[in-house]
Amino acid sequence: MTKEQIDRVVEGYDKKDIRIGTICSHSALQIFHGARQEGFKTIGICTKDRVQTYKAFPWAMPDEFMVVDKFSDILQEEKQEFLRERNTVIVPHGSFVQYVGANNIEESFNVPLFGNRMTLGWENDRKKQRKWIEGAGIKMPKEYPDASKVDSRVFVKFSGARGGRGFFSAGSKEDLERKLAERVASGIIDSNDAKNAAIQEFVPGVRYYFQYFYSPFEEPIGQLEKGRVELLGIDKRIETIDEAYRGLPEVPQEFFDYTVTGNQPVVIRESLLPDVMDMGVKVVARSKELFAPGMQGAFCLETVYHPDRGFTVFEVSARIVAGSNLYTQGSPYSSMIFNEPMSTGRRIAREMRSGMASGELEEIIY
Ligand code: AMP
Repeated sequence: MTKEQIDRVVEGYDKKDIRIGTICSHSALQIFHGARQEGFKTIGICTKDRVQTYKAFPWAMPDEFMVVDKFSDILQEEKQEFLRERNTVIVPHGSFVQYVGANNIEESFNVPLFGNRMTLGWENDRKKQRKWIEGAGIKMPKEYPDASKVDSRVFVKFSGARGGRGFFSAGSKEDLERKLAERVASGIIDSNDAKNAAIQEFVPGVRYYFQYFYSPFEEPIGQLEKGRVELLGIDKRIETIDEAYRGLPEVPQEFFDYTVTGNQPVVIRESLLPDVMDMGVKVVARSKELFAPGMQGAFCLETVYHPDRGFTVFEVSARIVAGSNLYTQGSPYSSMIFNEPMSTGRRIAREMRSGMASGELEEIIY
């Protein structure tokens, strides 16, 4: 979908009755809750079995459900029409991309999205992601083209948003090959996944996940020519491997699992904040060069910090992340920007309000 096609849809919308919609998964409760706080009506795209769950949180329940058999049904023309008739702007999140597919969204989903639709393709492609982040002057883990080049401890991952399932670390080329074969044999991955696995340098240190928001409407604070980068929160993902110490001294194999199951709030040593803000600004600045107008709205840098090496970014999420679900009432950082409860979901709705008030909604929607 071209920007012009989406602009035409927005032109036809009743600007006094814009609704915020998303797929009922991931961070949808927070998105609906925030939209309601900013006075928007909401639409939840939901499978039948989940409706009860979303009704269980009255302040975050969507005003209207669009019930589907499966989430990818929203690609059907009649479903898209339903959303356009209701002046819907969709807020994309991780599960939205996973269930509908970045390519399908780019090519055949003719409903406006909050943010810049082009970023979805940039976060989904490992090579493009590296071009973006390293091009911004930020360190990423070294990547090995294939197992034969491995000369240090490595971390192996598979593509697609699978939440860390099947990922592992290996100490040598032989160890790597053995573990890959084991995973294929037990059906955790298929041979294609094994062939396309990303083999990265294992980065030791503490993980921090920074939740940022970029708004083109706010006054710059001397970093960017236009707009402001806000730090809305920090979290750390909870993975089974974090509890491996409980199995000491002989850690059972089941502890070596990186599947994300939850999130913990964290704050970071204040003297590291300049680096944190600097990374957010550089990522936005580089995005503007690569895919103008670049990053809009929420994004996350997933990092490892070590006192000797500083920050290494191993992943960027160019949309709202589930770790922000911690902060429906705001975070220690967002409180100092807004002085009122400001979740990422609410921040998105607030940004839409700003765009509507100044007649610049098109700038933050594609
Ligand atoms: P990801 O899907 O890239 O977010 O990675 C899932 C998890 O794998 C992270 O939360 C980390 O625990 C771990 N991880 C990813 N990349 C690396 C790396 N290069 N070195 C060490 N651990 C990593």
